[in-house]
Amino acid sequence: MPKPSKPNDHGHASCVSKAKTRFESHLKSKGKSLGRNDEPILSLLLSNHRAFGAYELVEKLSKMGKRVQAVQVYRSLEKLMELGVVHKLRTKNAFVACFEDEACNSQQFFICDVCDDVSEIQSQTLDNTIQDAARKRDFSVKLPSIEILGVCSECAST
Ligand SMILES: [Zn+2]
Ligand SMILES: [Zn+2]
Ligand SMILES: [Zn+2]
Repeated sequence: MPKPSKPNDHGHASCVSKAKTRFESHLKSKGKSLGRNDEPILSLLLSNHRAFGAYELVEKLSKMGKRVQAVQVYRSLEKLMELGVVHKLRTKNAFVACFEDEACNSQQFFICDVCDDVSEIQSQTLDNTIQDAARKRDFSVKLPSIEILGVCSECAST
């Protein structure tokens, strides 16, 4: 299902509240607590469905009056990734909040090259294909990640 990138077009508040609920339960089950920078970084990432670079996050935080070094941002991102609420996009060297309902292991994405909008693909078929191909090659999969670059419907229509 395509997700419009403009936060107001699709009732993004409910995406955020669902993601936060999931995040809090992950936090509790892993016995972790949030550091000073984690909360604002997560909020920025949750503000829409697009990817953010670490330096963009540093810049946005400093505009909010928070002095944060890139290394601290990376540390927070590592923690948020460990908690499964943020994913890294290797082709973009950027980070995106996860808005999936359940535990998210697949990490397969459509990424818009124009606006950096990201939507996750949850495809069991894709997963099976990867596992089958890996088995045939005796390849052990660490991260079955796929990043597909293109143009989202909104950018295509403007
Ligand atoms: Zn949304
Ligand atoms: Zn996800
Ligand atoms: Zn786009």
